[in-house]
Amino acid sequence: MANSGQKVVLITGCSSGIGLRIAVTLAKDEKKRYHVIATMRDLKKKDKLVEAAGDAYGKTLMLLPLDVCSDDSVKQCINNVKDRHIDIFINNAGVGLLGPVESISIEEMKRVFETNFFGAVRMIKEVMPDMKKRRSGHIVVMSSVMGLQGVVFNDVYTASKFAIEGFCESMAVQLMKFNIRLSMIEPGPVHTEFETKMMEDVAKMEYPGADADTIRYFKDVYLPSSIDIFEAMGQTPDDIAKCLKKVIE
Ligand code: NDP
Repeated sequence: MANSGQKVVLITGCSSGIGLRIAVTLAKDEKKRYHVIATMRDLKKKDKLVEAAGDAYGKTLMLLPLDVCSDDSVKQCINNVKDRHIDIFINNAGVGLLGPVESISIEEMKRVFETNFFGAVRMIKEVMPDMKKRRSGHIVVMSSVMGLQGVVFNDVYTASKFAIEGFCESMAVQLMKFNIRLSMIEPGPVHTEFETKMMEDVAKMEYPGADADTIRYFKDVYLPSSIDIFEAMGQTPDDIAKCLKKVIE
């Protein structure tokens, strides 16, 4: 349980990548300012997080199951938080999807929106009432540079991030009246399993419906330059966690 003076932080998608490092960074805060509730949809994946958290596990870091695509799971998770009291909510869970639109089923597209857009909205709806009542809180949403700019063959992922950007921009003004902050983080490339999966998807990719120039641009210009950017400027999950810590301090 949180000590008085500690801020309760709930984070989604902590089984890997950015979410895992945010959870560990905040749980290991030198001044012990945070009580971290790290959530993941499958607690069988907890070992990496528990190992990285070390002594903080069970003290400043606890775990709860949470699938942001399930109304029941979201409600159950928030009900398990003492008094439903969350000071800082970090919406990190997300999935990618790469390929020409003709190669992607509507079901796959809905899964991306269900996670990246409705998952975030579902969580915000659930954490907001208590924050409003207390007239205090901070919501941080992990968007992407692709929430600001379209990228070839990333149409659906980009659209899901644009959608959550629009939602948050509209909400931010309303929440300000309740002294609740809403921040967006828009990382460029970050070295995580997300990136590894994207590269595997590229290797298997087929291009139905795409024209030869677009395919050539994607393969000969976009991909090599993305790989160069990754190698030269790619950030680590720790870089993003440090940035987030500054945002919430
Ligand atoms: P990872 O694939 O490493 O992590 C994604 C996390 O989201 C995993 O813990 C995954 O859990 C979780 N997740 C997926 N679906 C659900 C769900 N329905 N309910 C709960 N959790 C779920 O990727 P990153 O760490 O890179 O991505 C984190 C966020 O950062 C995403 O929102 C992504 O869009 C964003 N981002 C990433 C960039 C990058 O280059 N890596 C760049 C810009 C933004 P599980 O293990 O169960 O699948």
